[in-house]
Amino acid sequence: MADDKKLTTRAADFGAWYNETVLRAELADYSPVRGCMVIRPRGYGIWERMQSRLDTMFKDTGHQNAYFPLLIPESFLHKEAEHVEGFAPEVAVVTHGGGKKLEEPLVIRPTSETIIYAMFAKWIQSYRDLPLLINQWANVVRWEMRTRLFLRTLEFLWQEGHTAHATEAEAEEEARKMLGVYRDFMEGWMAMPVVTGIKTNSERFAGALRTYSCEAMMQDNKALQAGTSHNLGQNFARAFEVKYQTENGDTEFAWNTSWGVSTRLIGGLVMTHGDDFGLRVPPFLAPIELVIVPIWRSDEDKARVMEAARKICADLSGWERRKTGKLRVHLDDREGMKPGAKYYEWELRGIPLRLEFGPRDLDANQCVLVRRDNRVKRTVTLDSIGEDVAELLSVMQTDMRVAAYERREANSLRGDITYERFREVMAGDGAFVYAGFCGSEACEQSIKEETKATIRVLPDEEFRSADAPVTCLKCGGESVNEALWAKAY
Ligand SMILES: [Zn+2]
Repeated sequence: MADDKKLTTRAADFGAWYNETVLRAELADYSPVRGCMVIRPRGYGIWERMQSRLDTMFKDTGHQNAYFPLLIPESFLHKEAEHVEGFAPEVAVVTHGGGKKLEEPLVIRPTSETIIYAMFAKWIQSYRDLPLLINQWANVVRWEMRTRLFLRTLEFLWQEGHTAHATEAEAEEEARKMLGVYRDFMEGWMAMPVVTGIKTNSERFAGALRTYSCEAMMQDNKALQAGTSHNLGQNFARAFEVKYQTENGDTEFAWNTSWGVSTRLIGGLVMTHGDDFGLRVPPFLAPIELVIVPIWRSDEDKARVMEAARKICADLSGWERRKTGKLRVHLDDREGMKPGAKYYEWELRGIPLRLEFGPRDLDANQCVLVRRDNRVKRTVTLDSIGEDVAELLSVMQTDMRVAAYERREANSLRGDITYERFREVMAGDGAFVYAGFCGSEACEQSIKEETKATIRVLPDEEFRSADAPVTCLKCGGESVNEALWAKAY
């Protein structure tokens, strides 16, 4: 049904705007179970395109897909001390099955390190079995207390890569490589720029040696942890006896990595690109890239306009691009709905391009293309419509990325900043603040308690400031690392 009530604006209430956009663009809906969500076809269509692209990127880097069970023996979780401590509070446990109490409770996977490395221990014997590069597309359950559609739900969809290597250097290279794959995907396909870097110990994945992350800035200046990649060291290999025989005949523990992104990315896409008219989907990920809205008044006009519309739709649907395949076109031929109401609806749903035309346009062999990102209209001839649409979509993909990048940089603070000023910024509009950090957990903890901001990452070199502060934001001691601070989802 057409619902033409205006959205809450982002400036008035960003959280309310987000929920309304997700619900009214029909990406997701609330479920009968508190904290779970239903992903609707328009949201799932975006996820399928994300999946398909990422899956290709994983396979191009040598990974294979497999599937491991949803249920994990509870004892497995206890084998790695930090891991169980990190995940125990959010684990759902199955105690009964088939009407009987189970001898050993089973946990519903919150992540699959334990069961996957238990299997790796069976499959890996020799250095010839390494590296083992596996990815799984799955759902996981984490019993979260405060939930938000896509951003934090009890159950979510994701992929988890799990690999085993002969040396620490190879595991490190893998963890870094997959962080780069995520970054390429987020920037190239989601048009969502990210800052990459390493997490401090307090934000590290439970059981990892090192955690790397891609952090994106949302339009309320908060950070979204969009993807993480972990060098697990030999922690899980020791716990699950993942050993291999070296070329010399010695026995060594393998080195592992794990890395994941989830349906949370859809929330990131909404909060990076949406505007007060609703969703804006980058063309590469849009299940529909172009919608055709024919306009007519008389029945006579209707017949010839519809005929032309079907022809344009068929022509454009056959248009093939190198990177993104066949053009995804939809013809809105619904009767009894005014063009204006259709425009409103497709804008809300974030369809990148709208093609409108009526009898007069047809006489002039032209149509009007309207971009969703900046709402600019352009009249084009029907002779070169395929070229024009393909070009416009590719320009929009770039423009959306550049706009998001410029917004992030305009809301980033670098250089010397007093702690007082930092507190004001975090209590106000928020920002990405690059500040000096002495490396002490005490400073990190007290800043977090006083401002709710956290260290998102110690940024990789290319993101660090040329004139990074030499003293710690909090204690004034010598800075050992520049740290990226922000409030986060
Ligand atoms: Zn300090």
